[in-house]
Amino acid sequence: MLALRYWSVRHARGLARAYDFLASLAPWLAPLARIIGIARVEAALRPVERLAKTTLFDCRMCGQCVLSATGMACPMNCAKEMRNGPCGGVRPDGSCEVHPSLRCTWTEAVAGANRIAADRGARPTPLLPAIDQRRHGASTWIQVLQGRPDPAFQPAVGERVTRATGQGGLEQACNSGRLVVTVEVAPPDSARPEPLLRRARLFEGLVDAINITDGAGGNCHMSSVAASAILAEHGHTPVYQIACRDRNRIAIQGDILGAAALGVRNILCLTGDDVSQGDHPEAKPVFDLDAVSLLHITRGMCDRGEFASGRKLQEAPDLFIGATTNPFVPPFSDRIANLENKVLAGARFIQTQFCFDLKRFEAFMHQVRQRGLDRRAHIIVGVGTLNSARALRWMAENVPGVYIPPEVLARVESASDQAREARLVCGEIMRAVTRIPGVAGIHLMGHRNEEVLAEIIDEHDLRRQPRLYTV
Ligand code: SF4
Repeated sequence: MLALRYWSVRHARGLARAYDFLASLAPWLAPLARIIGIARVEAALRPVERLAKTTLFDCRMCGQCVLSATGMACPMNCAKEMRNGPCGGVRPDGSCEVHPSLRCTWTEAVAGANRIAADRGARPTPLLPAIDQRRHGASTWIQVLQGRPDPAFQPAVGERVTRATGQGGLEQACNSGRLVVTVEVAPPDSARPEPLLRRARLFEGLVDAINITDGAGGNCHMSSVAASAILAEHGHTPVYQIACRDRNRIAIQGDILGAAALGVRNILCLTGDDVSQGDHPEAKPVFDLDAVSLLHITRGMCDRGEFASGRKLQEAPDLFIGATTNPFVPPFSDRIANLENKVLAGARFIQTQFCFDLKRFEAFMHQVRQRGLDRRAHIIVGVGTLNSARALRWMAENVPGVYIPPEVLARVESASDQAREARLVCGEIMRAVTRIPGVAGIHLMGHRNEEVLAEIIDEHDLRRQPRLYTV
């Protein structure tokens, strides 16, 4: 199956031609199908479609086929069912975060799409709403036959129609023209709020917002919605991180409303790390949504005041919505398209994965500026430090999506004071990224390293510095 899957991507151009030819017959076949009866035709088509597509593409018959936009690589084969581009956990060699022995479905998709582009011209990565689970097992061909638009090329969801009005906390800082500083704090393994508040107090007067992670690395902690609400109640500005891994769209939307009612104004939409690296590897990952479809839904709640189902809310939340990007792992050519989709779907601030590779980040920001994305969303760069080369190496090898160039590891490894050297590297990267046009701020991360992060922020006095562009 796997070999055939890869074969189909290698022959994406020929398969796309065959698909285009069959689709061109649809206007002639449609009247005949109507005479026979659409239900009867679908019943006859379904097993043929299933056989052809499972053989060629290892297809999961999601009923909303996007193969023609994904280079003949079925995105439902992705362990997280990412339909809007790759997750941030792709390994540096292009293999899958969840199944390291497989190539990431989206590195395959990009390769196949490039082959098809020779005939059709480049088409953007699809920007798809959340999948309709009811259509599993249904035929997509019948939709094409009926002249319905190819589900891979639905119009984009469009720009946000209303601006968040609250102008509080993080959003205000983002619009201020100076560098923004945020920091990541993991909620405690505690039924009491004090350990969380103790960590947050370290950053008083130093940061514009505190990100509260949501089961980072697939590990269980106090819920991010509760921890964010506790911080908001105590006068901090939390960024409530929501991972799609643990909840379906019903639970997530309920949590968003609850967070807003408890005074949380900023949310960060993530797909989430796989469970296999965490402390509950036996858990069932959900992934009902991916980050792009979660952004789309959240924006619908804020802009249109409605749930994903279309049902009206009594009171819409007013949220400053963010997303993440990882410029440091493949498929590099799709990272900008993926970021653009997140901006289109509603992200107004973007936080990146740890930046240790300046060259790669400069190239990424060059494309960001070319597409004007830095003027549509605030790009906040992830930086951080750990206390030893061993800890850095562990992170590079075990934390999905973190890439640390070998020369950085070697530099810290060979230092007599490794903690000091790692901190120096962090300072150098911070200074360098803040000189890159389009960068709006710095996001500090470092597992259980809050004291050091607070000292670094204090030392560099980042919030007093202007940035080179403002949105
Ligand atoms: S790396 Fe991420 S996007 Fe790629 S196949 Fe694995 S889970 Fe899916």
